[in-house]
Amino acid sequence: MGGCEILAVIIDDEISSKVARMIAGEDAVRIVLFLKRMGKATNDQILAETGMRLNDIRKILFKLYNYSVVQCDRLRDKETRWFIFNWRFQPDQVEGFIVNMKKRVLGLLKMRFEYEANNDFYYCGTQECDKYTFDVAMEQVFRCPVCGKRLQHYDNDDIIRILRDRIGKIEKEFPT
Ligand SMILES: [Zn+2]
Repeated sequence: MGGCEILAVIIDDEISSKVARMIAGEDAVRIVLFLKRMGKATNDQILAETGMRLNDIRKILFKLYNYSVVQCDRLRDKETRWFIFNWRFQPDQVEGFIVNMKKRVLGLLKMRFEYEANNDFYYCGTQECDKYTFDVAMEQVFRCPVCGKRLQHYDNDDIIRILRDRIGKIEKEFPT
């Protein structure tokens, strides 16, 4: 069993489906699971399996290829002399995709944490309305510009605590 095959077991159908969906939508799930099961497949085989339009199949494969989740071998048909594309699923790249996503989420969470920790917020209490920083609230003379209610200081300690927890959890997975 090569490294790739071992990973194919660890990177299960659920994770593969999730990543396929994130990259290229719901239809990509069927293609990825088919490639995962078959090892490799041509456009025609994917067409026969899924019944999707060849154009849609190509678009999806191209998106997956951009993230290296699938790889492609180009072979020439001995009789027709046409190129045959043989697509392969790359489970190790699925793992790489997830790691990158988590790092991106971590970056966003940290930005949000800084924003929440370094600002005071004012809020009218109406669910559909936004919370405003001190500067904006002052400009509005502490009246909500949407509903007109008085803006009051908003305690964001809970948000800060939740953000800190989530950042801590992801950082534990990727010690620097
Ligand atoms: Zn309001």
